[in-house]
Amino acid sequence: MRTSLKLSRIQPSATLAMNAKAQELKAQGKAVISLAVGEPDFPTPEHVKDAAKAALDANFTRYTPVPGIPDLRDAVGGYFGRFYGVTPPREAVIVSNGGKQVLYNLFTALLNPGEEVLIPAPYWVSYPDMVLLAGGTPVPVPTEPEDDFLVSVEALDKARTPGTRILVLNSPSNPTGCCYSKAQLDAIMEWAVSRNVFVVSDEIYDQLVYAPAEPASCIGWWEKHPENVAVVNGLAKSFAMTGWRIGYGVAHPDLVKALSKIQGQSTSNVCSFAQKGAVAALTGGFEYVEMMRGNFKRRRDLAMKIVSSWPGVKCPNPGGAFYLFPDVSACYSEKTPDSATLCTRILEEALVALVPGSAFGDDRCIRFSYAVDDDTLTRALEAVGKVLKG
Ligand code: PLP
Repeated sequence: MRTSLKLSRIQPSATLAMNAKAQELKAQGKAVISLAVGEPDFPTPEHVKDAAKAALDANFTRYTPVPGIPDLRDAVGGYFGRFYGVTPPREAVIVSNGGKQVLYNLFTALLNPGEEVLIPAPYWVSYPDMVLLAGGTPVPVPTEPEDDFLVSVEALDKARTPGTRILVLNSPSNPTGCCYSKAQLDAIMEWAVSRNVFVVSDEIYDQLVYAPAEPASCIGWWEKHPENVAVVNGLAKSFAMTGWRIGYGVAHPDLVKALSKIQGQSTSNVCSFAQKGAVAALTGGFEYVEMMRGNFKRRRDLAMKIVSSWPGVKCPNPGGAFYLFPDVSACYSEKTPDSATLCTRILEEALVALVPGSAFGDDRCIRFSYAVDDDTLTRALEAVGKVLKG
């Protein structure tokens, strides 16, 4: 089959590929535990499901405005007001099919061919491929486990060229879980804004931050410099709504119009009644989010305790999300020289599915999600530890 040259430059999702391998083993009757997926193991809260059901029963089933129903765009504004003290107006908000579509459309709207996008590595798997699809050039900026995988202004400055157009920030991070403090974020934003580098801040895990770490958003920077900043978020992770496909972005109203134009020619609006569920999520109580946060924090501690016992392994204690990203390169050998081979070995010998760090731009590491119950997590990590020690 003949497909475009553009397509040949991008990779299939490594997370999904690992999942497929795990499913194959499961189909052979093997008891595989998957720590490869990036979604909460909790159901969507009842009040959110009820709101969507009521909307469906009221026949709220037609096309809606492309950038989102007005009450959801206002609820997004209200969300930022509630947690960060900045309330973007309706025309600065777009609702899309997941944070993923907001990001994809942002790169499409902003990049001219060949323009460079600084992406601190390790990074979420989709950023470089989205940039490539949008015609841009991804430029990974490496970070170290000793620095909690956080990028410094110096490293960014070294990577910047006259062709640099965008910097992608992701805090808390997938795959590392690490978070920038407000002061660290401010220093980077100061640098970016003063050099006219547009910042795309992916804050999709902002509700999953564990004290003493504190959530930090770029929304204040958006308020001060709307032409230089876009903030991306969504309901997938914070409200256990991965399958609902609701993400949102805050950007300059002119950029929102551009995003809406792209969306209007591709997918149109997000599912009408799902948007009503999202309104209920953002305007209701956050007790459910707190419950999930408490569980994830306990599991993070449990996982850190086990990972810390693995010899030679370096792993920062992350402040958010639900992943650990240990540097396991001390366990590499002639037979297991990289993260992909190691993950295949772990899957075959320990029956645990993880994702190789190479997919996230750091071949020293492996990523696992701790969005599973405590007992499963303990059993899985103890089995992984045996392979690593072997
Ligand atoms: N950004 C990051 C860092 C993610 O980890 C994910 C999902 O895994 C997304 C964006 C996309 O989320 P959504 O399900 O809202 O498209």
